[in-house]
Amino acid sequence: MPRDGAGDARLRRQAAVALGLLGAVILAVAAFTTPWRALAEGAPDVAPDPSRDFSAAQIARSQAFDAATSLPGYLSLGLTVLFAALLVATPFGARAVGWLRGPWWARTVLGVLVLTAIAEVIRWPLGVWFETLLRDYGLSTQNWASWAGDRLKSAGINVVLMSVMVLAIVALARKVRRWWIPAAAGAFALTVGASFVYPVVFEPVFNDFTSMRAGALRANLLAMAQRDGVPVDDVLVADASRRTTALNAYVSGFGATRRIVVYDTLLKAPQREIELVVAHELGHAKYRDVLNGTLIGGLGAAFGAILLFLLFGALRRRAGITSIGDPRAVGLIIGLLGLAGLVSGPGENVISRHVEARADAHALDLTRDPAMFVAMQKRLATTNISDLSPDAVEYVLYVSHPSSPERIAMARAWAKLNGVPEP
Ligand SMILES: [Zn+2]
Repeated sequence: MPRDGAGDARLRRQAAVALGLLGAVILAVAAFTTPWRALAEGAPDVAPDPSRDFSAAQIARSQAFDAATSLPGYLSLGLTVLFAALLVATPFGARAVGWLRGPWWARTVLGVLVLTAIAEVIRWPLGVWFETLLRDYGLSTQNWASWAGDRLKSAGINVVLMSVMVLAIVALARKVRRWWIPAAAGAFALTVGASFVYPVVFEPVFNDFTSMRAGALRANLLAMAQRDGVPVDDVLVADASRRTTALNAYVSGFGATRRIVVYDTLLKAPQREIELVVAHELGHAKYRDVLNGTLIGGLGAAFGAILLFLLFGALRRRAGITSIGDPRAVGLIIGLLGLAGLVSGPGENVISRHVEARADAHALDLTRDPAMFVAMQKRLATTNISDLSPDAVEYVLYVSHPSSPERIAMARAWAKLNGVPEP
């Protein structure tokens, strides 16, 4: 096939059109699946007010923890940006893996390993700092050996997933001129596949899961799920207490791998509060939030693959490589993936906060117990030392859930709307 300039320009034009169309599809899917209103029309406005439900000491503790963790948090973010920029805009990545020898696929995988290791070493001290703060505040129950083990396991999983992705891109670019088409399809498939197998392949690497033992709590939770019309035949308990004192529950997977998990730390809470937490998770299951999120994530990954094709031409000279089929392009690919993750984060948070508010509304509809909902939110916020009033930057960058005062305010609005005594 001739590789003349006009042909290249046509390829880029085609990819640009596909990118625009896919971008429009992503926006449409996100707009359509995001529940922009959690409560019914006409719900009263209740302003969030931390001082109404939290003592001055609790608020001060939350602020102190937030202030202490902000610095390592922002430094870590800064290092991530710096490292990605180094990989994208300088020949650093090509040089860091240029000494590797062997067949192209081996150099590609080793390149991913080398660059992940460098990133891990750079960020390690900040991780130690952050973990020290968690221990100071009584949130971590880990020793350094298990903490380091967790971190290495995370990095290992990261290397495996990244290797599959980068290998596919490099292999396709070596064979196909329009490699962005199979790469986009592959990125979508990999994202959906990873989300599907995540609960059965990756979660057990970090935690042991057991069926909640028979008893009144389990019976009540399963009965509540049945009443809700959500098929659930088991509730799993994760041994989170070996790592944290924080309280949590979540839904992961979809279809055959969907599961509802509660932290063992949560089991000490009063039964009605645990029911409320699970009612929230049932909301996620009922509205297929994991599947919707996976769909948007997969489309975003496909978008990223096409963007990579388009940006490569502009960046390759700076990055010191000529073809994306060159294993030394690994750094540029990883750098762009890192930047893509940072850029998409705020959008994901906007969607997530609305999805979480809908799950809260679902929990209230199902249990009709706003007073217990408020009690549960207070327990979560004080035990997990949640940020009770995140500032604008934190809100945009990190906040995936409405703040506890916001969630409590919504419970009061729900109570007013439904004629239930306001807690
Ligand atoms: Zn949730």
